[in-house]
Amino acid sequence: MDTKEERVVLYKDEPDEHSGRCECGNNIFHSRVLEGKFYRKCQECGKTKIV
Ligand SMILES: [Zn+2]
Repeated sequence: MDTKEERVVLYKDEPDEHSGRCECGNNIFHSRVLEGKFYRKCQECGKTKIV
């Protein structure tokens, strides 16, 4: 079974190569705050970083 679970990483573990830009090259994100943490999800590839 292939589930499309979003990939979540910690920013400190995988910081942006170019600040404000995802590894896929996109720079448009969905942002949300959950339990005091800032989640930044790439609109292109769905990768989420917890800042
Ligand atoms: Zn991306």
